Amino acid sequence: MRIYRILYRQARTLLEERLDYYSQFNPSPLSMQQFTDFGENATNMDSFMFLRKELPVRLANIMKEFNLLPGKLLHMPSVGIVRDLYRQSFTDLLQFENGTSNITTTTLDKFTDALVKIRNRHVDVVMTMAQGVMELKDAHAINANTESNIQYFLDRFYMNRISIRMLINQHTILFGDGVNHQNHIGCIDPHCDVVRVIEDAYSNARFLCDQYYLASPELILRYHNGMDKSSRTIMAAGSPADKTPVSVVYVPSHLYHMLFELFKNAMRAVVEHHGPGSDIFPPVEVLLVMGQEDLTIKLSDQGGGIPRSVMDLLFNYMYSTAPQPAVSGLDTPPLAGYGYGLPLSRLYARYFHGDLQLTSCEGYGSDAVIYLKALSSEANELLPVYNKTCQRQYSTPVQTHDWSSQVHSAQFVRPFSTSSRPKTPTPPVITTTQ
Ligand code: ATP
Ligand code: MG
Repeated sequence: MRIYRILYRQARTLLEERLDYYSQFNPSPLSMQQFTDFGENATNMDSFMFLRKELPVRLANIMKEFNLLPGKLLHMPSVGIVRDLYRQSFTDLLQFENGTSNITTTTLDKFTDALVKIRNRHVDVVMTMAQGVMELKDAHAINANTESNIQYFLDRFYMNRISIRMLINQHTILFGDGVNHQNHIGCIDPHCDVVRVIEDAYSNARFLCDQYYLASPELILRYHNGMDKSSRTIMAAGSPADKTPVSVVYVPSHLYHMLFELFKNAMRAVVEHHGPGSDIFPPVEVLLVMGQEDLTIKLSDQGGGIPRSVMDLLFNYMYSTAPQPAVSGLDTPPLAGYGYGLPLSRLYARYFHGDLQLTSCEGYGSDAVIYLKALSSEANELLPVYNKTCQRQYSTPVQTHDWSSQVHSAQFVRPFSTSSRPKTPTPPVITTTQ
């Protein structure tokens, strides 16, 4: 028994030492263009040499940040599970860190297998981490500092996860046994047909909405080309769709994720606002605009909008006005209720230097806007970096109010500060793309 304890302690010390080493490096963000160039020209060996350092660096950067979380959260069982998964995956990668002349095809195959294992191991991480936060909320009262640190951490943690999965997917699709979609470079579509993704996301969200309410709003889709200033209607209720594609270099599953979430939100708002028994619902209108720098997709609904008083909460994890969905036994996933739709979608948008914003006219409706970089050379990965600035974020207390109302202090001092959210009694089941 004693010998096991000694071995365990030695392994932990080695792990900590390698974590310190890799966390000194900043992650190397890649642009969409670099991803596609690399995918077309690099060999299995090139990819191996890059990833065997880059993956431990990205893992180490976020694992060090874990240590800055409030001690109470670190002691929650689910958070412990997530940390152990990360330790295990980091250790798995360490076996490939050395050697240059002795790398054989067997090494490369083992590496690809290890990546597949890591991807599968982490599949439920979003849900498990969310569960950990709920365990904390059930066990302790949470002050504004803790709340704001958790929000700050989760954004960075989930973004780090998106990026690691992107790297792993690229490698395993290109060099593993996975299915390589025709004309795709890994999981990137160099001619991603935006209209098709919009149609797919709309029809799948509509399917859920019909199941839930037995009714759903129509879609009107318009396209404006900012270069030649031409406009056309691509889809209007009752008329056939114009199939001329509008394309961008992008990961279709990321774009689908964002659009699906926004359509679900818009449809729920429209049907709830007008009453499920209503005969006719105003359509969800989508405007797609190709500019020189940005590709913009604006979804406008007439779902009654969102009051300004809760606008700051929309991107908080677990903020939802929908009833908590049942945990199991669902034939179809719910339309809403976990409060992860908007914050995760915004991360997908920001990952390649895009954005997702919401504006609203309360009493009428909301506009949700997705911005993507139109040029693949400008679509760089946005990655969290573990450094002094990030460490300071965790130790800086939320500032006291210097306006007569707390709401205004929040707006002027920390525009994204958080406030208490409704307690959710059961763990969320969250599906993420990739
Ligand atoms: P899920 O995680 O299943 O998507 P959710 O829809 O409640 O659950 P979010 O998508 O993050 O979570 O949205 C958070 C909240 O923002 C919603 O519960 C809703 O109150 C509000 N909201 C979002 N989009 C709209 C909209 N278009 N119109 C009105 N309210 C909206
Ligand atoms: Mg939602």
